[in-house]
Amino acid sequence: MTFELPKLPYKPDALSPHISAETIEFHYGKHHQAYVNNLNGLVPGTEFENSGLESIIKKAEGPVFNNAAQIWNHTFYFESFSKGGKKMPAGSLSDAIDKYFGSFESFKELFTKSAATLFGSGWAWLALKDDGTLQILQESNAGNPLKKGLKPLLTCDVWEHAYYIDYRNRRPDYIKAFWEIIDWDIIEKRYK
Ligand code: MN
Repeated sequence: MTFELPKLPYKPDALSPHISAETIEFHYGKHHQAYVNNLNGLVPGTEFENSGLESIIKKAEGPVFNNAAQIWNHTFYFESFSKGGKKMPAGSLSDAIDKYFGSFESFKELFTKSAATLFGSGWAWLALKDDGTLQILQESNAGNPLKKGLKPLLTCDVWEHAYYIDYRNRRPDYIKAFWEIIDWDIIEKRYK
């Protein structure tokens, strides 16, 4: 199987000023593309030759896992955003967030803290357990909740390459901007 870089569902400047076209050019155009190229170089001749990304993420370790998960994570991340999207969750997702975190505001606080305090490179996640529980997770490097049997709903990339062009070393400012571009319509669809 040959992996391909999925098309972005918006123009490179659509998320500006929160995320600039230049960040998209590097983060999507160079980093995301590099993970795709790396994986295509790694899988031929291995047991993963005919596997999809999710199956590789669940079974593989080392460089194959890292590159497969980074492809999946970045696609999921970039597809969480839109220009002028829905600002807050509604319906059953909103009810679940209230149930497990108290309110949308306290969920935002907890998720922000999780993203801000993650040491080094990685991803903050909101994920759904089989029993309906919502969880916030900190995953280092390419970590993905699929590996733990959870269903990912939302993620924030806190690798420096996600924010250094627009925010230099200021991860908290990037996380603040992250909340402005999430389209909750998309997250609700993942939850259903
Ligand atoms: Mn990234």
